[in-house]
Amino acid sequence: MAAIRVSRILHATTAEGPGLRTAVWFQGCSIRCKGCINPHLFSELGGFDMDPEKVVGEAVSHGVEGLTFLGGEPFDQAAAAGNLARLAQQAGLGVVCFSGYQHEDLAVRPDADELLKCTDLLVDGPYRADEPEAIRALVGSTNQRFINLTSRYADFDPVRTANRLEMRVAADGSVEVAGFLQRPELQDLTARVGASRVWRRNSA
Ligand code: SF4
Repeated sequence: MAAIRVSRILHATTAEGPGLRTAVWFQGCSIRCKGCINPHLFSELGGFDMDPEKVVGEAVSHGVEGLTFLGGEPFDQAAAAGNLARLAQQAGLGVVCFSGYQHEDLAVRPDADELLKCTDLLVDGPYRADEPEAIRALVGSTNQRFINLTSRYADFDPVRTANRLEMRVAADGSVEVAGFLQRPELQDLTARVGASRVWRRNSA
């Protein structure tokens, strides 16, 4: 089965969507929104390969409710990401997928069919720095939409959900950050901890 190219994977986080989740940050994004907080994920040459079956197996062993796909851009690896989403659903897991593409454009892409079919909640649209979101959790700009493709997360309301920030400090001093950070907060955090030791979530 084709590998997915990822920047990182974080199991058992409560900061990346409904319930306990495995967050998968895809490596590579061809959209390249101005102001994207994760430019280090633009290049498809970074990151590492992961076997989708291994990702799902690890997710199940962590007892998560589902997977969240984050940018980079999952639909730039639509076939492999679709395989991962299908395996996740076969294992009883839900799938939340963030994408900088709009649903209407994805719906006419044959290569995106499997990933759309196996996504429960799609959060779509590019990040627009001049349209900042102040009310809804998990998104950076007001144009981005929460689209329920199944009923699994129909009760999830981003207006009634607070953004969460999760920090994990390992024994070697490395720090992992998950959750939604606005740019000034990220800059402050990065300055305090050291940029090379901080993993951060995408703004889209
Ligand atoms: S915000 Fe998302 S879609 Fe836009 S450039 Fe960054 S990773 Fe890509």
